Amino acid sequence: MKQLRPAAPQLASIEPYDPKYIPADVMISANENPLDVPFEIRREIERAIRKVPFNRYPDPLANGLRDLIAEANGLDRDQVLMGNGGDELLFDIALAYGGPGRKFLNVPPTFSVYVNNAQLTNTEIVNVQRRRDFRIDEFAVVKRLELGDIDYTIITSPNNPTGDIVSSSFVKRLLNASDTLVVIDEAYFEFSRFTVRHLIEQFENLVILRTFSKAFSLAGVRIGYLLGSEAALRELKKVRQPYSVDAVSQAIARVVYEHRAEFEPGIDTIIEQRERVIDGLGALPYTQVFPSQANYVLFRFDQRVDAADVWKKLFDASVLVRDFSRAPGLENCLRVSIGTEEENDRFLKSLGAILDSVGK
Ligand code: PMP
Repeated sequence: MKQLRPAAPQLASIEPYDPKYIPADVMISANENPLDVPFEIRREIERAIRKVPFNRYPDPLANGLRDLIAEANGLDRDQVLMGNGGDELLFDIALAYGGPGRKFLNVPPTFSVYVNNAQLTNTEIVNVQRRRDFRIDEFAVVKRLELGDIDYTIITSPNNPTGDIVSSSFVKRLLNASDTLVVIDEAYFEFSRFTVRHLIEQFENLVILRTFSKAFSLAGVRIGYLLGSEAALRELKKVRQPYSVDAVSQAIARVVYEHRAEFEPGIDTIIEQRERVIDGLGALPYTQVFPSQANYVLFRFDQRVDAADVWKKLFDASVLVRDFSRAPGLENCLRVSIGTEEENDRFLKSLGAILDSVGK
């Protein structure tokens, strides 16, 4: 067969993204909302989709949605940018602010997509590792930014997969440390009810990432957005794919956002269930559970238990969680997303039985 020339050299060390999403009875591995969009809202979505002209290109910037989100957040349309999921916007940030000769400050362990995007765009990665308890080494991060050579940084709040949030005072110190673009990834903020939105007016170098994938049950639809300064978003508009947010997704997201108050009881339930899962994990032997403000919980086994083996046994019981045991800094850790009450019960019961048999 005729051979193909090599792809761009930065791809050599990259594996295609694999969410390890294998069918199971209890799917609690991807931080999704366990409940789909409520039936009445789906009916309204169906009516909205019927009106979408499929032969026409969508509104490139999704202005209808931008206006809704801007108004809800007390901002102007130019301070909102929509994307095909938060993931697309993260890539746009790397394209616009990274690149050869430029630097991204990363605070691992955190969401792996940031590093991938930096590698794809030939951006140098500067890591400031979190402490052993996963708290950010705030002094080290601020000090590193003060050197003035970092082009962009992303701080995740709540952090994925560790679950902790940042403080406003730390974010302010970051923003004051230099003119670096500071992205606060608030993909899970509805479960922590903490945002740094109030800092947008004071800081041109702040951008906040949000998504419809978690609290609003739209992981399958692909809608994310940024809030931030017009200056930063203007640069991102230059690199974004003009029609990445399709007309059907725009129509769906508009209906869901108009009904966002109806998602609040579901969010409350996830928060209550999170506390139950944290307590349940805390009562198990060999297990250290990390506090979480998100819709997932990270936990670590001591040396008597092998996390990868537990992951396999949970999967054999048709419970799918996420295995981080081979990720740097997350040795022997698993992450469980908060499911329905029944799913959480089944997870805790299965894990309890697996741990009971250790050493027997
Ligand atoms: N940021 C974080 C921290 C995430 O965990 C995710 C989803 N895994 C995203 C952004 C992107 O989510 P989406 O592309 O579904 O909006």
